[in-house]
Amino acid sequence: MKKDLMKHKILKDIFGHNDFRELQEDGVDAILNNQDLLMILPTGGGKSLVYQLPTLIKDGISIVVSPLIALMQDQVNALKAQNISADMISSAQSEMEISEIINLAHSGELKFLYLSPERLNTGSTINLLRKLNINFFVIDEAHCISQWGHEFRNSYRALGNLKGNFPDTAICAFTATSTNHVTKDIVSELCLDNPKILKGKVFRKNIFISAGRRLKNGYKQLEDFLSRHNNESGIIYVSSRKKTDALCEYLNENGYKALSYHAGLPQHKREKNFKDFVNDKVEIIVATIAFGMGIDKSDIRFVVHMSLPKSQENYYQEIGRAGRDGEDSEVLLLFNAADIALQKRFLDEIIDVAYKTHLSEKIDSIYKFATSELCFHKQLANYFDDTLDECKDRCDNCLESDEKRDDITKESQMLLSTIYKTNQNFGKNYIIDILRGSKEQKLLANGADNLSVYNIGTHFSKKEWFVILERLMELNILNIGEFSVLKLTNDAVNILKGNKNIYIKASRLQISIKEKKIKQKEDFSYDEELFESLRVKRSELANELSVPAYIIFSDKTLKHLANEKPYDKTSMLQVNGVGEKKYEQFGKKFLEIIN
Ligand code: ADP
Repeated sequence: MKKDLMKHKILKDIFGHNDFRELQEDGVDAILNNQDLLMILPTGGGKSLVYQLPTLIKDGISIVVSPLIALMQDQVNALKAQNISADMISSAQSEMEISEIINLAHSGELKFLYLSPERLNTGSTINLLRKLNINFFVIDEAHCISQWGHEFRNSYRALGNLKGNFPDTAICAFTATSTNHVTKDIVSELCLDNPKILKGKVFRKNIFISAGRRLKNGYKQLEDFLSRHNNESGIIYVSSRKKTDALCEYLNENGYKALSYHAGLPQHKREKNFKDFVNDKVEIIVATIAFGMGIDKSDIRFVVHMSLPKSQENYYQEIGRAGRDGEDSEVLLLFNAADIALQKRFLDEIIDVAYKTHLSEKIDSIYKFATSELCFHKQLANYFDDTLDECKDRCDNCLESDEKRDDITKESQMLLSTIYKTNQNFGKNYIIDILRGSKEQKLLANGADNLSVYNIGTHFSKKEWFVILERLMELNILNIGEFSVLKLTNDAVNILKGNKNIYIKASRLQISIKEKKIKQKEDFSYDEELFESLRVKRSELANELSVPAYIIFSDKTLKHLANEKPYDKTSMLQVNGVGEKKYEQFGKKFLEIIN
C-alpha cells in the first residue's frame, strides 16, 4: 500500500482519529523521509502520534528517550493497550526482566523501546542498540537539554553523543515549550542535521486565563472559583507539601472530594492518589509541582495556582494540563508579592552565577506576566517567540474587567518629566531616586536636587514607582534603550500635555491612591521595603543585647533612616534620633543595610 494511504488508514484504524491535527502530518512525513525533526507543540497538541504512527509503518524499532519513569510507563501502557508491542528499560527493573526485554528487541518483535537518558549513555546500551534495526530516536521533553530552558537535566547533555554514535539514524525531538533561544540550543546540542522544525501556535483557545489576582482571602477566592466547577476535574498547585495537606483537608471538610500529591507521600500512596484522580474517584488533586508530567487525563477542566510558578515555561506547561480534549477549561493564578522571595530562596544553593541569574530573571518575568494588564495569551505567545493579537475574550485582562482602577496620570507625568529633564540619560533606579528625594552622592553630584521634580514623589515606595514604570512600558509610553536607559516614545507627549489619562488596576499598587492620600495626612512617607529590613536588623540586635527594640532606635527613627538614606557617619548623625553614642553602637550596622 502507498505510504500516504497507509498513513490515513493507521490514523483511523489504530488511533481512531479521522484527521490529522495541525502540523501532525508534516511531522509524520519528515520522519517517514528519515529527516531529523524538532517539533514544538503545546501540551495536548498530539505529539505522541507523530512518532508512533511512522513506527507502525516502518519495519524496525523506535527508541524513545524520556526523562521520567512514570512518563515512560504511561506511554508503554497506552501502546500495549492498543496491542502495540512496547517496553521500557529502567533502574526499577530486575536484571532478568531487562534481559527478557533485550531478547524481545533482538527478535524484532518490539516496536518501541523506552529508555532513560542515563541508560542510553551506557556502553552496554549503545552496544545493544548497534545490533538493532532502529527506525529513529525520539527525544521527548527535549527542552531538558538546554541550560536556558526551565528543566535542564544533566543526564540529557550526553545525548549530544547520539548523532556521533549513530550518524545515519534520524533524531526526532519533541517539546511543548521552547523559545527561539532554546530551539537553537536543542538543535545544536543534539547535533541535528538540517532538521525540519515545526512550531505550533502557543495560543490555546479553549483555556480561559484568570491571572493577575493577588491572594487575599485565600481559600475564599478559591471557593468562588470552584463553585463554577462543580463535579469537574481539576488540579490545584500549592507551594509546599504542608500546604498541600492543609488545603486538601479543608476541601474535604467543605464538601469537595480531594486528594493530595507530593514527593513526601510514600510511593504507593502517591500512585493510588494519582490513579484515583485519573479514574474520577475524586475531582480535585492538590499537589506540588511534583505532579503532572506525563498525566494524560484529557478532561481536566481547571488548574489553579495558589502561588507564583517558577517561570512562564512552568506556568504554560502546568496550565496546559487543562483541556487536552479541546473543551473549554479555566485556569486561575493567585499569588502574593512574597512568592518572589520564596522562589528566589530556592535558588540559593545554585553555584553557577550565570545560571542562577538566568533562573532569577525567569521568576521576575512570571511576576511581570502575572501583574501586567496585557492580554495573558498574547504575553505567553510573545514569551515563546510567537505572535498573537489580543485574545479579546479568553483571559480576564481582555474581558472588560470590573476591577477598580486608579488614575495614575499625575504620577505618570512626574516620571515622564523627570526622564525628560534628565535628557533621557538614566535608568529606572536613578529616576525614581530623584522623585523620592534620595540623598545619594551620585545624584547630588549631578545637581539632581535642583530639579523641580526632586523629592515630589515620596508618596510612593520605590517598589510602587517600579510598578508605574512597568505600566508605562506596557502601554508603550516608555521603553528601554541602550545601557538600560529609559526613553520616551511619541505617546509620552500626550500624557505630559494632559491629553490622555493613564489607569492602573488598583491591585497592582500596594495601597490604592485614595488610601494613600488619607494615610499621607497622618503619616510620614519612607521606603517601606528598607524600613522592613531595618526593623529586622533592629530586632536581631535587640535579641543579641536582650533589650527591647525601641531602646536601639524608635520606629520613627527607622522611618527617617528609610527616607533620608544616610550614606556615612556625617549624614547619619543628621537623622532625627541618631546621636554620637547610638552611632558608635549601631550606626555601621544600619548603614550597611541602607547602602
Ligand atoms: P502531547 O504529547 O502533545 O501533549 P498527546 O500526544 O498526549 O499530546 O495527545 C493529546 C490528546 O490528543 C490525546 O488524548 C490524543 O488521543 C489526542 N489526539 C492526538 N492526535 C489527534 C487527532 N489527530 N485527532 C484527535 N485527537 C487526537
